Amino acid sequence: MINVCDIQIMKPLLAQHGFHFSKAKGQNFLIANWVPERIAEDAGVDETVGVLEIGPGIGPLTQQLCLRAGKVCAVELDKRLEPILDLTVGEFSNLEIVWDDVLKQNIPALVQEKLNGLRPMACANLPYYITSPILTALLEAECFEAVTVMVQKEVALRIAAKPGTADYSAFTVFCQFYGEPEILFDVPAHCFMPQPKVTSAVVMLKIRKELPWEILDKATFFRTVRASFAMRRKKLQNGLAAGFPELGKEGAGQVIASCGLPENVRGETLNIAQFADLSNEIFRRKHSD
Ligand code: SAM
Repeated sequence: MINVCDIQIMKPLLAQHGFHFSKAKGQNFLIANWVPERIAEDAGVDETVGVLEIGPGIGPLTQQLCLRAGKVCAVELDKRLEPILDLTVGEFSNLEIVWDDVLKQNIPALVQEKLNGLRPMACANLPYYITSPILTALLEAECFEAVTVMVQKEVALRIAAKPGTADYSAFTVFCQFYGEPEILFDVPAHCFMPQPKVTSAVVMLKIRKELPWEILDKATFFRTVRASFAMRRKKLQNGLAAGFPELGKEGAGQVIASCGLPENVRGETLNIAQFADLSNEIFRRKHSD
């Protein structure tokens, strides 16, 4: 197996194929063996698992996943990488590469077609310019047991944030609605070529099999969350009134009171159970009119 993380091997390999890194495609390739090894290991990949990998690049993580998984399906946008991947991961019979933009894929259908019969997981060193849309698509697919991704450290902190902290956001609630996050480890910038300007971190989201909250309407729940964070420095009442004009300020106050929350509560201090209560109350009011 070619050691693609060894820059003495990687540089001539890329030069031989006239490959130049594309900043626009978020191409920062791993040059430290321990990182892909640890991602594949900590993600819990074994022969019962089918992995969807996004952005294999020249294949450092792909190799480690193929060594452990029942099957790997890797989606890569950049066709220039095909001859290089032929050399670095061509030997693996449990690998299938899909040449496409992952955001154009129907992920549940792809998983069903390519990883049928295996425990589906997603693993990736994500292209950072589209971290949020990819994570959103992976979580909304509702077909994985776990999603383990390398992201900018600041994004990992937002994903795993606790209520009332500066990192806690609507994106935190979105991620934690679907899964339980754990930051596995940090990855310094010198582990990549070219080096990014930021530190990275690997975060694992164990996907919830059942929601621990009763949520009457998912759309109202996420609308409530967005409205609650839209005016961070203002009272929740103002945020809800702006996000649900049909409630008005008085109605927003009544919703907050009937959930047993203080009148001057701020949205960013609420946990998911409290957002669920608020959204259920709003939903009930709208449907009792
Ligand atoms: N996995 C490799 C590694 O760890 O060295 C490469 C990671 S690099 C950060 C991101 C990879 O995602 C690149 O190979 C890039 O071409 C690919 N990529 C970028 N946008 C993509 C998209 N929309 N769909 C699929 N792959 C994409």
